[in-house]
Amino acid sequence: SLSAIISLQVAYEDRVHFSALGTDAAQAVAHLSEKLRQGLGEAKPDAKTSGARTPPAPTAKVTHPHTADRNRFEGIMASSGLAMGTIYQLNSDLIEVSDDHGQGYETESRRLLEAKEKAREQITTLKDANKKSVTQKEILSAHLEMLEDPDLLERSLKYLKTGVSAARAWYIACSETIETLKKLENEVLAERAQDLIDVGQRVLRILLNIEEKKQTIPERAIVLARQVTPSQLTNLQSLGIAALATVEGGPSSHVGILARSAGLPMLTGISPMVLEIRNNEIAVLDAEAGLLTLQPSAELMSQTEQRMAQRRELAAKNLKASRQSATTLDGQHIEIMANIGQVSDAEQALAKGAEGVGLLRSEFLFLDRQTAPTEQEQMAIYQSIVGALQDSEHERTVIIRTLDVGGDKPLPYLPVAAEENPFLGVRGLRLSLAQPEIFRTQLRAILKLPNVQNVKIMFPMVTSLDEVFAAKAILEEERVRLNAPEVPVGIMIEVPSAALLAETFAPHVDFFSIGSNDLTQYVLAIDRGHRELAKQADGLHPAVLELIRLTAKAGKAHQKLVGVCGGLASDLQAVPLLIGLGVTELSVSVPAIPEVKACVRNLKLSDCEALAARALKMASAEEVRSMMKNPNLLKG
Ligand code: PEP
Ligand code: MG
Repeated sequence: SLSAIISLQVAYEDRVHFSALGTDAAQAVAHLSEKLRQGLGEAKPDAKTSGARTPPAPTAKVTHPHTADRNRFEGIMASSGLAMGTIYQLNSDLIEVSDDHGQGYETESRRLLEAKEKAREQITTLKDANKKSVTQKEILSAHLEMLEDPDLLERSLKYLKTGVSAARAWYIACSETIETLKKLENEVLAERAQDLIDVGQRVLRILLNIEEKKQTIPERAIVLARQVTPSQLTNLQSLGIAALATVEGGPSSHVGILARSAGLPMLTGISPMVLEIRNNEIAVLDAEAGLLTLQPSAELMSQTEQRMAQRRELAAKNLKASRQSATTLDGQHIEIMANIGQVSDAEQALAKGAEGVGLLRSEFLFLDRQTAPTEQEQMAIYQSIVGALQDSEHERTVIIRTLDVGGDKPLPYLPVAAEENPFLGVRGLRLSLAQPEIFRTQLRAILKLPNVQNVKIMFPMVTSLDEVFAAKAILEEERVRLNAPEVPVGIMIEVPSAALLAETFAPHVDFFSIGSNDLTQYVLAIDRGHRELAKQADGLHPAVLELIRLTAKAGKAHQKLVGVCGGLASDLQAVPLLIGLGVTELSVSVPAIPEVKACVRNLKLSDCEALAARALKMASAEEVRSMMKNPNLLKG
């Protein structure tokens, strides 16, 4: 019984006594003892995870924010902003089953076993669909273990004998175990209660025939969740929530990207203890400070209100000026483009002063569906996006990035064999070249656009020149077949090899666009969705800046435009450095357009170059950030 084992609260270096019955008892004990001695596949724990029973050494820092101050939780900014509102737990509408009468032991026990079997199938399907995420897979495996817990079943059957329904019996058995787990002193183990709640609720939903909840969320809520999916986020956004904080996922996870494009303040990597906070508590979420504060003092509330008002004022001022171009004080024009994923973003982008679309993440049209969009469907969407950006005075370009899936964006209808490291596997252009049918359909949809003259095509995740040749050859085949005009072709620079060989790539492409999210992940060897390492995955690391410098230099030498479309372009501390490194186009999240433009207008190219030169000599992103925090350095 997994929950019974958890309840033992065995911590690092505890002595465990095994006893066994049966003919192979001696063998079993020997085997288990040996496995336990080897650590059961786990590394020696650090101070944070070793559990509360071993008192921390006198010098040890209290790392858990909840322990330090029960009302303050630290997280990592995924999307900037400040919010004050009431807490809403995304998964808080839990089913409760009150005392009832069942249809007899036979019927009810069969119903319980069938419901458990169905739950097992659901979790297994989810696990298969989440093959790419090790964390998700591990969580779902633990859910399967919990579902099969013999102790839980035994107690449920015992309650059934008192005449209640399967749902009631299962509910009582789960609730008892959940309460026991929650009381454990060891925080890491106590958090497992959340998993049992998940599993228990799944079985109850099946037994009671309840669809997964459509939740009614109050407006201006600060939503808390273990994790949210991109489609859940879109839904939350339409409900007018004030902010979001999740336990899982890093700032450049796709949910983070969507939050930024919606202008929704968001923290990630927050302690799972937040999932215990009651609904309706008042809280302040300050994304830049990386803090969620419960029961804020009157002083903090009034300060927050003031700061929010100041921000609104500044945003209104920047928006008013957003139609003006972004040119530095010494005359360097920087093209400010938008990162978008759908038609409505294009309209918003234009309203905020975008000079075009520097990155259409076309994969958002492919996610959350069972089949790929057809050529006609894609044409209609691309045509609307390109059309939305044109007006009588300006023709604006849309850079359509071809399908970038794999890694953290699996598609059910484009299966990739299970991989140990999907981010290092068949993703982006590699997948398009390995299974070119969907790629070809997409290229045809683009080439057939009546407004194709306003479009550029961009390939993601390019590693070698051969891939560029292969992709361009496919594009050319389709173009000739359709007798379509030539379209400029660029590549994303998001793999170190492409940045290092930018000089070699430059003659063969029309532009470069630096994907700083992936480039950072690959240069620093930190998964972009990693919860604990998220803070270190900072694109201002001098090693990443050096690769941006090399790319910009190669682009300049070959007169090819070099832009940045990753998260760095929307980061006001990064903007002066990118310009100083020679980047002339920034493609940013839609809400950030007015402020990035305003920022550029206050800079001097010569200052930016000096700052960039200094940053390149530094040893860490932290050092670079502390230089960029000094506003005097940025005065033009
Ligand atoms: C990037 O990697 O920086 C990028 C823009 O692409 P995506 O975030 O969609 O992977
Ligand atoms: Mg990328």
